[in-house]
Amino acid sequence: MIQSKLPNVKESIFSIMTNMSNEHNAINLSQGFPDFKVSPNLIKLVNQKMKDGHNQYAPMPGVLELRQKISEKHEKLYAHTYNPDTEITITAGATQGLFTAFTAFLKEDDEVVLFEPAYDQYVPAIRANGATPVYVTLKAPEYQIDWEEVKKVVNARTKMIIINSPHNPTGKLIPEEGMMALSKIVSGSKIIVVSDEVYEHIIFDEVEHQSAAKFPELIERTLIFASFGKTFHATGWKIGYVLAPENLMKEFRKIHQFVVYAVNTPIQYAISDFIDNENEYLELGEFYQKKRDYFVDLITENTKFKIIPTFGTYFQLLSYEGLSDMKDKEFAEWLITEHGVAAIPVSEFYHDKFNEKVLRFCFAKSNATLENAVKRLKKI
Ligand code: PMP
Ligand code: GLN
Repeated sequence: MIQSKLPNVKESIFSIMTNMSNEHNAINLSQGFPDFKVSPNLIKLVNQKMKDGHNQYAPMPGVLELRQKISEKHEKLYAHTYNPDTEITITAGATQGLFTAFTAFLKEDDEVVLFEPAYDQYVPAIRANGATPVYVTLKAPEYQIDWEEVKKVVNARTKMIIINSPHNPTGKLIPEEGMMALSKIVSGSKIIVVSDEVYEHIIFDEVEHQSAAKFPELIERTLIFASFGKTFHATGWKIGYVLAPENLMKEFRKIHQFVVYAVNTPIQYAISDFIDNENEYLELGEFYQKKRDYFVDLITENTKFKIIPTFGTYFQLLSYEGLSDMKDKEFAEWLITEHGVAAIPVSEFYHDKFNEKVLRFCFAKSNATLENAVKRLKKI
């Protein structure tokens, strides 16, 4: 008889909804991935790097050229320099980076403070590493963090606090004051901050991203996670990176080397060249803002769903309050089977399945796909 480490964990909601969507030939706005093409130049570069013979193991922390480029990029954007040798590691997507960090730092009896709704990986990964999640609940429609509440749950066992801005699934941002409040809470403690910033370039309305790298009190205790999958429309490539001060990175790498050793080589070389085109990431916010506005206008003009404003990421929350008494998971399944549109029920991002009748839709899709989806939602 196997004693499961994660007895309550089932298949991820992203797999469930995508599989169901495919089964019913629905329009899949559930799992977050773009339907746009990866830049042909980037594809060409990957191909070229393979032809050039970059096909064997990369150095354990990643290709040095790429780490140097990342360092320069961060210095330019957030005015803090991460040392490419000792403070940057390339990961197989943010997912592997996050799991590796939990394994490197969490022990039994440690507590990890996180905000729900939370990206679905955090809680199982914390538990698999023996630690205990401590939840702070954010509620619709603002989903704002009450830092006074955070102060109350922090105690001597708190090993880590996880933040995620821009936030999946709500599209909310942590403002500068929030980052300052967090700085105050952790100042003088041994708490490690995990800052999931995979949507750093998908921010709207010309608001500035408040990276943890901008706050001196945070820099010394924070691991920042980034994902090229989000930035270059290539979620299937599973490549990202982590930034952290040397003492934290040293521990991170002890685990990283035995989890993947190194990440695939040709894509690292290709991105290292491609990342010179700053507009590829600097114009991403504007690109997605147009998508958000297009989707929001279509929904407002044609359907009875209520918009819950999104300020970043490629997700839009819609409330179906007044449209149905079904719980959100049931409603999402019904949407697929009866109307052919797939979305993610937001209760799945709460450990107690807290249901506020809200669904998450991914708008990283062509306008035609969004139009077709709204045509179907119009009938409800
Ligand atoms: N964190 C958040 C908040 C995400 O939305 C995602 C994307 N699924 C990840 C981490 C993982 O990123 P990656 O695909 O690079 O593993
Ligand atoms: N990040 C994506 C989302 O939130 C999906 C990631 C996954 O499928 N694991 O939809």
